[in-house]
Amino acid sequence: TVRVRFCPSPTGSPHVGMARTALFNWAFARHHGGTFVFRIEDTDAARDSQESYDTILEVMRWLGFDWDEGPEVGGEHGPYRQSERYETYADVARRLHEAGRAYHCYCSTEELEARNAKAREEKRAPGYDGHCRELTEEQVAAYVAEGREPVLRFRMPDREITFHDLVRGEISFGPAHVPDFVLVRANGHPLYTLVNPVDDALMRITHVLRGEDLLSSTPRQIALYDALSEIGVGDGRTPQFGHLPYVMGQGNKKLSKRDPESNLLGYRDRGFLPEGLLNYLALLGWAIAEDRDIFSMEEMVEAFEISRVNPNPARFDLKKAEAINATHLRALPADEVARRMVPHLASAGLVSDPPTAEQETLLAAATPLVQERMVTLDESVGMLGFLFAGDSFTRDPADAAKLLETDDGRQVVKAAHDALAALGTWDTASIDEALRQALIEDLGLKPRNAFGAVRVAVTGRRVSPPLFESLELLGRETSLARLAPS
Ligand code: GLU
Repeated sequence: TVRVRFCPSPTGSPHVGMARTALFNWAFARHHGGTFVFRIEDTDAARDSQESYDTILEVMRWLGFDWDEGPEVGGEHGPYRQSERYETYADVARRLHEAGRAYHCYCSTEELEARNAKAREEKRAPGYDGHCRELTEEQVAAYVAEGREPVLRFRMPDREITFHDLVRGEISFGPAHVPDFVLVRANGHPLYTLVNPVDDALMRITHVLRGEDLLSSTPRQIALYDALSEIGVGDGRTPQFGHLPYVMGQGNKKLSKRDPESNLLGYRDRGFLPEGLLNYLALLGWAIAEDRDIFSMEEMVEAFEISRVNPNPARFDLKKAEAINATHLRALPADEVARRMVPHLASAGLVSDPPTAEQETLLAAATPLVQERMVTLDESVGMLGFLFAGDSFTRDPADAAKLLETDDGRQVVKAAHDALAALGTWDTASIDEALRQALIEDLGLKPRNAFGAVRVAVTGRRVSPPLFESLELLGRETSLARLAPS
């Protein structure tokens, strides 16, 4: 059975690359009826934060991921926060040392740097040179007498390491490229190099799908796995690895977690739909079919094959993400769109959350006017503000100056006011007819000029939902008040 893991480190704000990795692991697990393990790699006290941990969980929930084992849900291989597993790591480190698969290294940072510099000068590969691999008891005693504290270093086998990457095919690393590496610091603190494979082994992970940036750690992890199996940690099976392509941002540079378009909270706050964002993220290295961009997560799960992930870098394209989101938005039932707009309208102070019965009715009537026009839900604030603002209604000053506060503008608005004031029935068709008669026929204006001023007067903006429908929804009294000469 398939067991995959998503194991972010809680540093900083959750980013696009992280969500893409979570998505591919989740889709792979669900496609194979496997288990999606969520683990928190928080062994770097200097960089990890509770805030980041909370935000990652929040974003995972927002995106709609469900995990079978992990924080808040538990599971038989817990705890799932590495900061709660130090005893395990200390025990495994001790056993690796006893079995001779790791050794104490007393080299100081200065010594290592000096030897590396020399290696570079002599055009040899830098990296640990094996200095402490075979220390005699006397040498160890001498270091200890100097007061040196050793790190625990893994003894890499002197052989080529080859594996079949699920995305990239066969990959080999020669022994010179993978020097012995540190597992535990001199102060006893275990590093990623140790804890990540140890947990993968203990949690019986079968497939490791992660970003290409981690490719160089794979030969070390495969070698460590071998040692873990020798000392009886895990079930002796090495997981299969698949490295997901880089995501490129502006200027063909790798998208960095510090790029603003990388920040997942930004998408949530703008009112991206989780299903729209996930659909876009799926395209960063995968395709459901040629010439097909839009699909649901059910469809992705059904179709997802890791062997069809493209190893070439994927380009992040915000415009495309927005277009995909807009398509998902249009496909939703209107009442669902209304429901999802509420938090955005509420945080702008336009409705209460939950909305009052009156707001609810207005929202239901207004949603069809904006659903086709929005790219993200937060645009509902600008588009519908005029309907819900009541006494705090204001106009865009630039639009007002240009279209309303001119002689032409005042004349048009007065004519519109008088025509509408005389109207018997207040509905879209009658409003349409009366305004066309008064402004186009009687004043001889072009529709663009005629309705622009009315639009700014009533909705406060040059761009708004359809004008006649907007007037109907706003009601006679408020509409006339906004059209009355000031
Ligand atoms: N905690 C690591 C990271 O955030 C996980 C890497 C891995 O998947 O092995 O990059």
